[in-house]
Amino acid sequence: MVAVNSPLATTLSNDEVLRYSRHLIMPEVGMAGQQKLKAARVLCIGAGGLGSPLALYLAAAGVGTLGLVDFDVVDLTNLQRQIIHTVEDVGRPKLDSAHEKLTAINPFVNVRKFETKLTSGNALDLFRDFDIIADGTDNFPTRYLVNDACVLSGKPNVYASIFRFEGQASVFATEGGPCYRCLYPEPPPPGLVPSCAEGGVLGILPGLLGVIQATEVIKLILGSGESLIGRLLLVDALGMRFRELKLRKNPECPVCGVNPTVRELIDYNQFCGIRGEEAPVTASVPEIQPVELKARLDRGDNIFILDVREPHEYQICNLGGHLIPLGDLPARMNELDSSREIVAHCRSGVRSAKAVTLLRQAGFAKVKNLAGGILAWADKVDPTVPKY
Ligand SMILES: [Zn+2]
Repeated sequence: MVAVNSPLATTLSNDEVLRYSRHLIMPEVGMAGQQKLKAARVLCIGAGGLGSPLALYLAAAGVGTLGLVDFDVVDLTNLQRQIIHTVEDVGRPKLDSAHEKLTAINPFVNVRKFETKLTSGNALDLFRDFDIIADGTDNFPTRYLVNDACVLSGKPNVYASIFRFEGQASVFATEGGPCYRCLYPEPPPPGLVPSCAEGGVLGILPGLLGVIQATEVIKLILGSGESLIGRLLLVDALGMRFRELKLRKNPECPVCGVNPTVRELIDYNQFCGIRGEEAPVTASVPEIQPVELKARLDRGDNIFILDVREPHEYQICNLGGHLIPLGDLPARMNELDSSREIVAHCRSGVRSAKAVTLLRQAGFAKVKNLAGGILAWADKVDPTVPKY
C-alpha cells in the first residue's frame, strides 16, 4: 500500500519478541508486520493534544523511529488533554517531556527531536528521513504546509483535527488518493474558525482522534486493513456518532491535480491571511492599561466597567463589571450611558477591542479597551483573579 523502507535488516531481540508477543501471535501482524513497524519512520507534527496519544501508542506498538516536531513548552492549560506531559513538566520543552515518556514506555524506539517551528524552509528537509507524516497541528497555515509538503515529497499525511466536541480524520496525499486541498481548496477567512485556545476543546477528544491517527499509521505500515484514504471520518463526541464522507481526488487541485500550480512550498501565513504570528486585532483602539485603571478606580473616578465576555466566563472570574456579551452588544447599547467613561474588557482584549470599535461607531466617545483583558489584570493588578 505505502512504500515503507524495507525491513530487510530488521530483526527483533528476545526482549522485543516478548514485548510484542500480543502482536506476534496475530497472523495479521506477525513477525513480518512487527519488523515493518520497527523499520518504519513516522514524523509527528506537534507534541500536543493529538501528538500525545499518537506518539505514545506508536511507541508502545514498536514503531522503530519516531520523529517529533514541536517548539512549545508545557503549560498548565495543556494538561487537561496533552497526556504525555505531567505537572512536573510544566515550563519544560514539550519535546524533552515527550521523549522521556516515550522511552520510558519503550526504550527500543529511536526518538528524534526537532525543536523548531515547521516552516516552508525546513519541511521538505525534515520529511525526507520519514515514511509517514502524522499531522497533529492546530492551525491552518501549518495544516496546509504539512499537506503540500506531503504531496510534494510523496509521503502520506495522516490527518486529524479537533474543535470543541468534534473531530475529523483522514489519510491524505497517498498515490491516487485525495489531499487536504482536494477537500478544502481554500482556507477559511482568518478569524472565522476559532482555535481550541479561543473556542475550547473537550479534553478526551484529541485522545479519540489521536488514537484513530495512530491506528491509520499502523495500518499503513502493515499494509493491511481498509485505510481512511478517500474517506473523511467525522466524530461527534456529544452525540457519540461517527459518520464518514467520501472524498475524491480533485483533478483541478492546485497541488495534487493534473496541472498543479503549487510546485513548491509557499508562504502559508499569507495564504491563510495571517500576517506574522497573530493578526493585530486590538491595534488602533484607545486603550487603558490595567495598572492605570486600578489607580483611577482607587481614586474614585466614575468609570463604568463593561464586560463583553459570555456568562459562563463571568462565573470563572470577573471585575464586577456590567455583563453584555459581544454578540448582544448591538441590541443592548441602550443599557449604556454615553456620557460616562466606559472601559470594556474581555479575557485577553480582542473581543473588547471589537466592542470599543462598535461603541465608538455608535457615538460613544469615552470608551476604552482594557489592554490585555482580565488576564493582564490578573498578572499586573490582582493575582488572586484566576486565569483561564
Ligand atoms: Zn489535492
